[in-house]
Amino acid sequence: MADVGETPTTFPILGSDAGRSCGGCTACCEGGLWDKSMKLSAGHACQHISANGCGIYESRPEKPCRTFRCAWLTEVDQFPDEMRPDLSGVIPVHDRDWYHWKVLRLYPRVASVPPEVLAWFVAYAKPKQEPVIFYEHHWEGDEYKGMSEKALGPPRFAEDVKLKPTESDVFRSLNND
Ligand code: SF4
Ligand code: SF4
Repeated sequence: MADVGETPTTFPILGSDAGRSCGGCTACCEGGLWDKSMKLSAGHACQHISANGCGIYESRPEKPCRTFRCAWLTEVDQFPDEMRPDLSGVIPVHDRDWYHWKVLRLYPRVASVPPEVLAWFVAYAKPKQEPVIFYEHHWEGDEYKGMSEKALGPPRFAEDVKLKPTESDVFRSLNND
C-alpha cells in the first residue's frame, strides 16, 4: 500500500481516529467545498491556502477547518489510498442524509467528477443501493457560473428526489447504469 502520510507540509486536518492522515491533500481548501461562514465559495480556493498548505494553520477556524473530515479520511476500509481526493479529483463525503436517504456526496476538486472516478464510486455504492450525489461547476472563461447537482440512486430514491428537482439537476436510477 502506498504511504500517503509522508509529505512534510501543513494540512487542514491532522488525521482521523481511523489512523489515516490527509498527507499531501488540501483538496477541501481548493474550491471543491464551500462554506458561507468561511466565505469559501464553490470553485474558488480559500484565501489562506498556500504552497505549503494552510497559511493560518495555528489559528484556522474550528468549523469547517478543524472538524471537516472527508469519507476517504475516516472510512479507511472502504476507500483505497489511490482515492485520496487530490489524487482522484473527488472529495467523497458522508455528512448528512438527503430525503431520509444516507447518501454519498462527491465534490469535484476542479470542475467535474472524472468519469472513471464516478464509475468507481458507483460500483462501490450500487451493492449498497446507496444514492450518489455529485456536483459539476460551470465556468465561462474566468467567470464562475454556478453548479449543478446530479444523482444516481435506486428507483425509490429517484422518485423521492423528483419532489424538488431544479432544472439543471439530473436524477437517474443506479439500476439503469
Ligand atoms: S479532502 Fe479529505 S484528505 Fe483531503 S485535505 Fe480534506 S479532509 Fe483531508
Ligand atoms: S483556513 Fe486553512 S484549513 Fe481552512 S479552508 Fe482555508 S486553507 Fe483550508
